[in-house]
Amino acid sequence: MDWKAAAAALQPEYLADLKKLVAIDSSRDVEHQTDEFPLGPGPAHALQQFLAFGERDGFVTKNIDNIVGYIEYGSGSEYFAVLGHADTVPAGKGWTTDPFKLEVSGDNLIGRGTSDDKGPALAAYYALRILKANGIHPMRKIRLVIGTDEETNWTGMKRYFETQPAPCGGFSPDAEFPLINGEKGNTSFEIKFPQTQDSVVPQLKSFQAGLKENMVPRDATAVLTSDEPQTVVKAFNDFLQTVPVTGSSETESNLIRLAIVGKAAHGMEPKKGLNAGTYLSSFLASQSLDPVGQKFVTFIAQKLHDDSRAVKLGLNFTDEVMGDLTMNVGQMQYTNDTGGLINTNFRYPQGVDPNRIAQQLQAATATATVRQISNMQPHFVAIDDPLVESLMEVYRKQTGRYHDQPEVVGGGTYARLMEHGVAFGALLPTTTDTMHQANEFQPQSDLLLAMSIYAEALATVTDK
Ligand SMILES: [Zn+2]
Repeated sequence: MDWKAAAAALQPEYLADLKKLVAIDSSRDVEHQTDEFPLGPGPAHALQQFLAFGERDGFVTKNIDNIVGYIEYGSGSEYFAVLGHADTVPAGKGWTTDPFKLEVSGDNLIGRGTSDDKGPALAAYYALRILKANGIHPMRKIRLVIGTDEETNWTGMKRYFETQPAPCGGFSPDAEFPLINGEKGNTSFEIKFPQTQDSVVPQLKSFQAGLKENMVPRDATAVLTSDEPQTVVKAFNDFLQTVPVTGSSETESNLIRLAIVGKAAHGMEPKKGLNAGTYLSSFLASQSLDPVGQKFVTFIAQKLHDDSRAVKLGLNFTDEVMGDLTMNVGQMQYTNDTGGLINTNFRYPQGVDPNRIAQQLQAATATATVRQISNMQPHFVAIDDPLVESLMEVYRKQTGRYHDQPEVVGGGTYARLMEHGVAFGALLPTTTDTMHQANEFQPQSDLLLAMSIYAEALATVTDK
């Protein structure tokens, strides 16, 4: 069987289908939720589009309450699962093309979701098409399960696992090649600074940075009042000379508006981004502000800024197999009416007790309240597990990269929902990771290679 030729033959149809998926803005949109669309219409429409491909091509499909669904191939009592997702993070700013119009530029496919995860999930779907078109009958069913809330709360996929029988094994095409056999624990904390004072000048009136806990904020803005606005602006411009981010300011009588543009990145490795919010806080902490506003920005500047390993909080920890604990400061909000709110997200290896993170945060903040809002334990499948070995063998054979080894990451994928689950593709080691960033792209050749790898992998793991 020439898997690569089979994938190449499907290229025009794959591209046409991906175009349809990218055109749907499927970021979580609960503000427009209805009984029909519990997460807003966008995520449901992207799911429906996926399932429509399955119906068109003669597969069994099922839509569960417009929040999760599956496309199934084969027969048997057990099934092997492939868990992808049709939602995306919000488009965000900084795009040079329309994020919802698939742009083909040389080998690159540009658009929100091309890399995370519409492109790879669709490649996995096309792998099912290859099996079916070539008369390959697996010894057990294969289900491509499509979630619609992966980027936030996993609402749909959790419902799936509550209501459907568990798979005998599976992979998630929602990360990188070669293969991820371990995922760090993932926990988020909300830190609340209460407002306790009447209006004073100078004052921090508002502060805003970040869209989601799992992204490094690209943009931050603050509004403050001062008796000497020009002095503040001058200090801000001086500050900008010393940091790797850019910024701008506006004044209107004693009101000053400051903005910083950093670099967005996935929250699992905050080092790859530049956090606009913590940079802006570190400037504001040097200015004279009202006590509550001052406490808010000083905490961020002194305890959270430029510290992806949480050294200043005393939380730095490295496990030999699973690597470093990391911290992302994903959201920072403040108004002079309501006070401040910070959302920090930690990815932790085996050996870290998340309760200790809460204690250290609380100790560092004094007057603020710290609350854990989510937690997932670390996940690990042994490197000599037959599933890991089979998938690695197919990957190595098709890419020629015989020395690549399975790895442990900070990103949480759906793989952790399966006792016997790993993440497998579709980002190749040679390709730039643009997930969650502006101008997200994935090379078409990578996606066709992923399709070919997935087809052979699925045939291999279900042939006995
Ligand atoms: Zn994803």
